[in-house]
Amino acid sequence: MLGLLLILCGLFRYSPLRPRAMLVRALSANLVFVVFGWVLTQLPVPPYGSAVNQDSTVVLGIDSLGMRMEIGGLRDFSREQGGAFYEHAVTPGLLTNSVWAAILHHRPVRQTGTLLIFQSPDWSRSPFSLVREVQRHGFQTWSFFTDQNTSYVGSAAGFDHDRSGAKGWLQSATSSAKNGSVLLPFLISRLPQLPFSRVPANQSATYSFDLRVLVRSILTSHQGPQPVFAVAHLGYLHEDAYPRFADLPPSYRSVLLKARVDSLRDFGGEWQLPIVPGDSIDLNAWKIQNVQTVVVEEIRESGFLAPQNRNRLLLFSDHGKRTLLNNENFTRPVFYEVPLITFGLPARDVQEPISLLDITSLIGLDDPSLPAPAAPVVEYVNMQTMDEFRNAVLGAEWLADGRINMRPEVIQKYVGLLKSYNPFADPGAVPPAPALREVAGTHPSDAP
Ligand SMILES: [Zn+2]
Repeated sequence: MLGLLLILCGLFRYSPLRPRAMLVRALSANLVFVVFGWVLTQLPVPPYGSAVNQDSTVVLGIDSLGMRMEIGGLRDFSREQGGAFYEHAVTPGLLTNSVWAAILHHRPVRQTGTLLIFQSPDWSRSPFSLVREVQRHGFQTWSFFTDQNTSYVGSAAGFDHDRSGAKGWLQSATSSAKNGSVLLPFLISRLPQLPFSRVPANQSATYSFDLRVLVRSILTSHQGPQPVFAVAHLGYLHEDAYPRFADLPPSYRSVLLKARVDSLRDFGGEWQLPIVPGDSIDLNAWKIQNVQTVVVEEIRESGFLAPQNRNRLLLFSDHGKRTLLNNENFTRPVFYEVPLITFGLPARDVQEPISLLDITSLIGLDDPSLPAPAAPVVEYVNMQTMDEFRNAVLGAEWLADGRINMRPEVIQKYVGLLKSYNPFADPGAVPPAPALREVAGTHPSDAP
């Protein structure tokens, strides 16, 4: 489109009264630009590996995909592949950072102390580390956390191979710079990864990002003969990069061509996913379907779950959609009920409540320091006001590698305000869990 606009400008600027040679020169340069841009967008993004791994384990989290959302794609895939679809899985937290730190520590949020965003986990707080334990079993470990805007566990948990996105302010700064440029993200994503770069070539939240290539990379990346253990977090639903026209269904195109320009926005980066005024296609609903389609198709077409490849897969989400979530209503199932599906792993009773903390035992690891199943408890707290959040971020420690770390006194305050809730608190059904603890003086939260 930009190229065509330039050609039109050339035609107006160089009217028939001007010398013909100048007109030809101007049009040629524009045509070269158009052809170069078109060829660039047609080039494939190179994946990290080609053949699908064997004897590997993949733990794949999809951000912000609750059980009460339209997740028929995952359910059908589970049925088709003989997966174990847990009907009552409960996430230990409602912020990406707190959930992943809890899973990798195999400890509830209260014990990890990682409860807010912009907080680096303190790995010494738990005697157990999922990554370390997997390495002890002879696996090579890989991390693919597409977006480390507010959580740095993909780079900080000790994986042998870190293919995660840029951290903190670096992710925001680099993706904004790329999205504000013409063709730059397309060019970079088609080139080999630059040595020492902290930003992946195929960077999430840029308009050139290829989700398919990333999922394929999770299923194929390896180095050497050791079996692979890959942990991935797809921030797709929680990232703002409006899809390319070609990726959307043809029926949407005429609708979008008639839409107001300011309605063509993706608010995925906003933690509570506000409604975009004038959004005529319900972009978030489409993205929810698209992420399932891409994940399911890539797993199916790669043959990852074919019996001869002897792979294991655990699929889940870290929390549901958080629209209107606050410190009082976090006990609503829409926030804490999440899909949890396993393939090629021994299954428990899928009708029984289960915490995502039990991912450790589902994938066959033992934690002698916490051998019993975890209580299906969700824990949550967030800042009361946007002003408080802004002051905490401005007063945080900003590091050169991109991380923004909240001050210890801020964390300490919120550890004291953390609330727990066990939706299955029938003592006969599950192990006892902390009861809901009301904190005096809390008000509906509007903080991120
Ligand atoms: Zn999340």
